[in-house]
Amino acid sequence: MGDPVGFKKYNRKTIPRRKSTKRIEDWKEIYTSWSLKESHEQSSRCMDCGIPFCNNGCPLGNLIPEFNDLVSEGNWEEAIVRLHSTNNFPEFTGRICPAPCEAACTLSINSEPVTIEMIEKTITDTAWENGWIKPEKPKFRTNKNIAIVGSGPAGLAAAQQLNRAGHYVTVFERNEVIGGLLSIGIPEFKLEKKIVNRRIDQMKKEGIKFQVNTDVGIDIKPSDLIKKYDAICLAGGSTVPRDLDIKGREYKGIHFAMDYLSQQNSILRGDKLIDKRINAEGKNVVIIGGGDTGADCLGTSIRQNAKNIIQIEILPRPPIERNEDNPWPNWPMVFKSSSAHEEGGERDYNILTKNFISDSKNNVKKLECVRVEWIKESNKKIMKEIPNSNFAIEAELVLIAMGFTNPQHEGLLNDLKLNYDNRGNVKANKKMQSNIDKIFTCGDMHRGQSLVVHAIASGRKCARNIDVFLEGKSSLPSVQEYIRPI
Ligand SMILES: Cc1cc2nc3c(=O)[nH]c(=O)nc-3n(C[C@H](O)[C@H](O)[C@H](O)COP(=O)(O)OP(=O)(O)OC[C@H]3O[C@@H](n4cnc5c(N)ncnc54)[C@H](O)[C@@H]3O)c2cc1C
Repeated sequence: MGDPVGFKKYNRKTIPRRKSTKRIEDWKEIYTSWSLKESHEQSSRCMDCGIPFCNNGCPLGNLIPEFNDLVSEGNWEEAIVRLHSTNNFPEFTGRICPAPCEAACTLSINSEPVTIEMIEKTITDTAWENGWIKPEKPKFRTNKNIAIVGSGPAGLAAAQQLNRAGHYVTVFERNEVIGGLLSIGIPEFKLEKKIVNRRIDQMKKEGIKFQVNTDVGIDIKPSDLIKKYDAICLAGGSTVPRDLDIKGREYKGIHFAMDYLSQQNSILRGDKLIDKRINAEGKNVVIIGGGDTGADCLGTSIRQNAKNIIQIEILPRPPIERNEDNPWPNWPMVFKSSSAHEEGGERDYNILTKNFISDSKNNVKKLECVRVEWIKESNKKIMKEIPNSNFAIEAELVLIAMGFTNPQHEGLLNDLKLNYDNRGNVKANKKMQSNIDKIFTCGDMHRGQSLVVHAIASGRKCARNIDVFLEGKSSLPSVQEYIRPI
């Protein structure tokens, strides 16, 4: 431990974000950086407490006290080794993870937690800058072939682990870009795509093959896949968006968040647009859904110079502090703001959208809404409309950011005759094996819509299970069972 009383000497300090009025003029990363002194001080706030709850709070089981200790000593090179021992892509989680580790940090019982996520980001950025992250080619090959379907964080983590175990790995991606939601969904200002591409380059140099523009199930017959590969890992994500089936849904100007966000990412890549441009410029924008995807739409609409933006949510606004039934170290169900909320727009809660109104040309013009309240009835919260609380919100662009229900069943999954769980995700046993012997699954396709950190953890775990399936044993590290869902 660098300083046994560091937590008493230094206050929590995160990496400063660029000024919000300035950063909305571009799409670049919102963060600046820490000085060496600040990194050392912040890491020395880690108390090295007897039972590191942070380590258990992290779905990857990151060795947090150990890397904090190494950073406080200035041993950055060893810190990245420690970080990589549990996490293939700490430069992603160091930027966009909601940091359940920090929620579980012992310091946060009565003070502010260690800035674990920003320390993780700094370790990884330092390692890339110094050329310490290099391709790690396997020392031997097993001659087993594995197909990974989907190149999101789950598929990428599984691919890197399995390749390092010596198997030949091909990742199939139906999109023209690799990275899943890291590349096509999450906005550039949260995760610059050069950061994703740098990691993919490393993976290519390690020997992993990527086949883009290949929709498995259409471009490759499921039966051919089963014939050709020794094991298959399905990591296709949760892609069916939750819709709002109300009057006027078909009007022009109403879009799913992912159609909007993926188009902006595509514009920034310099691609030629196939679909009509969805542009918030000069418009009144309403975002339906109070979550992170909604916040990403907000930051994107701000950068596109929208006239006015409101993000609405059907649920009540969460409390500022933890409720009694939500104690540490559980994930705090409290009011949170993302970087986009610092930049502009409004948020409103307890709002139910009843229907859309259009102009004579079928362009959306308004949302008709009503305020609701949530009443506890026999241990369940029931939504009730408040009488005479109807109101309208003007909108020329409506973005539906209500999450995803399940992976796409039509095509590959149905053709393979896979079983689903009661939420429509691909069902698998504890070894992440589906009802078909050599087909495994991980990430959002198996768990349902979740987080990048869970996707990486799931990909790593699936890789180990596949390795054991093929070789009877595995030297790949196991991933701890994550016990607290968030
Ligand atoms: C807008 C948005 C913002 C988000 N922001 C955050 C955030 O800030 N922090 C966070 O932790 N999480 C965030 N998430 C959630 C996170 O991105 C996902 O949980 C994570 O990407 C899931 O990883 P995955 O690998 O399981 O699937 P995905 O990332 O969805 O990747 C699946 C890939 O499989 C491909 N695919 C599917 N079917 C086939 C097929 N038949 N053939 C070939 N390819 C196929 C898809 O094209 C896709 O590229 C966000 C999600 C969204 C939508």
